[in-house]
Amino acid sequence: MPGADWNTPLAQAVAEDARKRITLSGRSVPRPERTRVLTVANQKGGVGKTTTTVNIAAALAQAGSTVLVIDLDPQGNASTALGIDHHSEVPSVYDVLVDGHDLAEVVQPCPDLPGLVCAPATIDLAGAEIELVSLVARETRLQKAVAAYVEQRTATGEQLDYVIVDCPPSLGLLTVNAFVAATEVFIPIQCEYYALEGLSQLLKNIELIRSHLNPALHVSTILLTMYDGRTRLSAQVADEVREHFSAQTLRATVPRSVRISEAPSHGQTVMTYDPNSSGALSYLEAAVELAERGAARATTEESA
Ligand code: ADP
Ligand code: MG
Repeated sequence: MPGADWNTPLAQAVAEDARKRITLSGRSVPRPERTRVLTVANQKGGVGKTTTTVNIAAALAQAGSTVLVIDLDPQGNASTALGIDHHSEVPSVYDVLVDGHDLAEVVQPCPDLPGLVCAPATIDLAGAEIELVSLVARETRLQKAVAAYVEQRTATGEQLDYVIVDCPPSLGLLTVNAFVAATEVFIPIQCEYYALEGLSQLLKNIELIRSHLNPALHVSTILLTMYDGRTRLSAQVADEVREHFSAQTLRATVPRSVRISEAPSHGQTVMTYDPNSSGALSYLEAAVELAERGAARATTEESA
């Protein structure tokens, strides 16, 4: 039998996955000292916001962290992917934003992932965008709810490590609420043509929120998704992003993967649906990096 040719793209991909599996298997990550609140945003639709939210959240939970996912998109895709019931009768983020309920009243545990809870979105949330306009403190309602929930969890000794908010693809009051509630913005960027279009608008919006409503807000993390190593376009987009945002861009990239796109139809993340797939390994790698960078930043700030 002739020796295997390790220079084919397939063989290289297999070798790369094997390397990741060995480095990452059974990995636990440093837990942050204080709850990190991240908003996953990009006003383009279909760039992988929801996929990134649920898989990073699942990977962090599998690595021993506690996570709350807030589904702020009326479509409820994040709730679906986490196997969370979100038909119109279910208590949801709508009740929190519009009726002032506690997050604790609406969160549900994720069936396959201990440590992960989700505040689901129902279709009612589509109306919240308009209903919020006439309410008092309309921009800070989510922030207050998150702060209260974090405090409650701390008081009961079940410290919450991460809050990850999945945003709709627009800059309405829902997204503004997410930006005011968070300190970190996590931007997934699809490695395709026009990927960077709209990014400067997003950054301008973040700057506006920062100067008027939330001085702590900053872009902490960028993840390149749907990366195809065989195309020059993917490499070009990746190079350009890394050039402009070297500190924020994770080394891990997420490939285009059928397993990732199949998982939600089974009410699962790819982390449970096919944990050894290249998509799951990439999200795990990204989650480990996110956790380690956070811990490194915290240490630098302490010693400063
Ligand atoms: P957004 O929330 O930004 O609208 P989604 O996360 O819903 O984007 O992704 C859009 C579509 O692309 C979904 O059908 C999803 O399953 C698919 N998708 C996302 N990431 C990947 C990937 N890495 N490989 C293959 N399909 C993906
Ligand atoms: Mg989405």
